[in-house]
Amino acid sequence: MTPTESQPLEGAAVFNQFASDNYAGICPEAMQAMQEANQGFVPSYGDDHWTERACHCIRELFESDCQIFFVFNGTAANSLALASLCRSYHSVICGDMAHIETDECGAPEFFSNGTKILHVPGILGKLDLVEVEQAITRRADIHYPKPRVLSLSQATELGTVYSPEEITAASGLAHRYGLRVHMDGARFVNAVASLDVTPAEISWKAGVDVLCLGGAKNGMAVGEAVLFFNRELADEFEYRCKQAGQLASKMRFMSAPWIGMLESGAWLRNARLANARARQLERDLSQIDGIRIMHPCQANSVFVEMSEVAAAALRQAGWRFYSFIGSGGARFMCSWLTSEEDLSQLAGAVRLACGGR
Ligand SMILES: *Cc1c(COP(=O)(O)O)cnc(C)c1O
Repeated sequence: MTPTESQPLEGAAVFNQFASDNYAGICPEAMQAMQEANQGFVPSYGDDHWTERACHCIRELFESDCQIFFVFNGTAANSLALASLCRSYHSVICGDMAHIETDECGAPEFFSNGTKILHVPGILGKLDLVEVEQAITRRADIHYPKPRVLSLSQATELGTVYSPEEITAASGLAHRYGLRVHMDGARFVNAVASLDVTPAEISWKAGVDVLCLGGAKNGMAVGEAVLFFNRELADEFEYRCKQAGQLASKMRFMSAPWIGMLESGAWLRNARLANARARQLERDLSQIDGIRIMHPCQANSVFVEMSEVAAAALRQAGWRFYSFIGSGGARFMCSWLTSEEDLSQLAGAVRLACGGR
């Protein structure tokens, strides 16, 4: 529904939100690339020069001749990638906060026909390798779903990031036991920006076999790319995409934005800006009485503890944010579109909600 003069959207002029980075629109570079691709007739289903060029850009960026597929969203990317790594009697080990466990409505299990997710306690959103090894070695009998994949989220659901060494250690452990390594990279670009490393250093060079690379939260309209660094694992993946309703007929509009983002450098600029805004917000909020920062801010989110009363007052004032980690925990998420003005307005509102002035 589009807003009309007589019926404006709630807070249409200033929409006060730090709910998610996917509340932000399409960045100019992605939009322009989509517009450029909107010319005349072009072959469908990915058999076009835009898609070929997008794959080329991604391969250059990752310094790898990886196999690439474009799907509509992260849930599909993760689920289909995991399904391709597993058989139905296998299991996937991940942290207990992992998106694949908590936020995909069972899609990984659904698309893999029964592969079980085994979630283990993490530390600040990251895998605890002691727990992982226990989950892998707990049982070796036929009654236990055989561990086949270790899945990491980079950046994590709690806004922390794994260093290259941490990823190498996790994948080393996984590979020692014959597991493959999947990375949920919905915010991979934020991790690259935060660590100041190359994409290769925190993916295939650190032992990642399959990466689900996020586009939407980075500024694209829609779409994630699935990168198979080990091409054998991509066998028949195109059939999975088609069967799951994830093969875009007008593929050029999913692939061209990647060209715009990568060739212009917007992917990194956007991620750096979102991260910088979150750091600034962390500094601003940490100075308010009644606010405690919960996790180190290493990507584009800030998690704080505040009283229920303060959180309710903030919502009452029209602010949108998620609170799903413990009682009183609130997540404020920054994006490529978050302005300094947005930050100071939020900080002011939080101060008020906490009873300060
Ligand atoms: C947003 C997100 C996804 C993708 O979610 P979709 O809504 O399916 O695109 C995947 N993993 C993590 C960690 C996310 O934050």
